[in-house]
Amino acid sequence: MIVVMEQNATDEQIQTIASKVEAMGLKANIIVGTERTVIAAIGEKRGSFKDSLESCPGVSAVTPISAPYKLASREVRPEPSLIEILDFRAGSGHVGYVAGPCSVESEEQLMSSARAVKAAGATGLRGGAFKPRTSPYSFQGMKEDGLKLLAAAREETGLAVFTEVMGTDDVDLVAKYADVLQVGARNMQNYRLLEAVGKCGKPVLLKRGASGTMDEFLLAAEYILNEGNDQVMLCERGIRTFETHTRFTLPLASIPYLHRRTHLPIIIDPSHGTGHTYMVKDLAVAAVAAGADGLIIEIHPDPPNAMSDGYQSQTFDEFAATMDRCQKVQRALQAD
Ligand code: PEP
Ligand code: MN
Repeated sequence: MIVVMEQNATDEQIQTIASKVEAMGLKANIIVGTERTVIAAIGEKRGSFKDSLESCPGVSAVTPISAPYKLASREVRPEPSLIEILDFRAGSGHVGYVAGPCSVESEEQLMSSARAVKAAGATGLRGGAFKPRTSPYSFQGMKEDGLKLLAAAREETGLAVFTEVMGTDDVDLVAKYADVLQVGARNMQNYRLLEAVGKCGKPVLLKRGASGTMDEFLLAAEYILNEGNDQVMLCERGIRTFETHTRFTLPLASIPYLHRRTHLPIIIDPSHGTGHTYMVKDLAVAAVAAGADGLIIEIHPDPPNAMSDGYQSQTFDEFAATMDRCQKVQRALQAD
């Protein structure tokens, strides 16, 4: 249920409604918009509270939320959310660019990548320290040593650090070094992990599961939001289909669809989404043209010798050229 307050409703009237909602056994989320404040009453309990709330002073309307997700929906928050971390901005007209290696491998590899990311004009640095690998015999990441290198790279470049957290036990450790916690595709429906990153309060990049539907994706985001953390970005990274010419199938239709359903920023990952370096630039440009709020791209100083995902990683020069094209498209759209 959404309680829409009148434009001139007082703080006291808003608080009174929030208390009434809580007294009904529901959670009251006060969302202050530029035009009006709404109170999202969230919970399982159903009943006809509409009349008793609608007659309260300061209330304009009480309407049900039709989507299965509530806090993630546009119904609750019609204006797009802006996520800001250091110089990184995504959403509400800003396109945030994140790049870096799939895995943090060494000081030299990470620092050279971070400098290339910064020089190309991006504001976020990615790099996995805990790697979810299909085989237990593949490189699993540098763990805390990798996190330390990421923090050192932020220190030098000012880039916001994005890195994956794979399990609830690691949330505090990763949050100590990272600016944005990435929940990987394999963990989109790890509900305990979603709650834990929600509680930790750091911004989260939630990747879509390879077989996750849009409703499942948005309900996964809802777990994080429901813990009081509204710094959530959604990442479309491709889904598994019958098609084998790409590693995954990257549906850019997710951008307009998600923009219609949710206020959360949409970040596109053309690296995992295609699995081929030669496709990354074109899909990155297409994503910006389709209204993406950000991109996350894998780069490496020596892709053929990368310890993970080299076949989809760009060289520094390829990334700079991609940035150049994306920003041209962005400017053209803004001038339109
Ligand atoms: C990654 O970003 O390196 C990664 C493992 O991504 P995903 O969870 O989308 O597979
Ligand atoms: Mn990767």
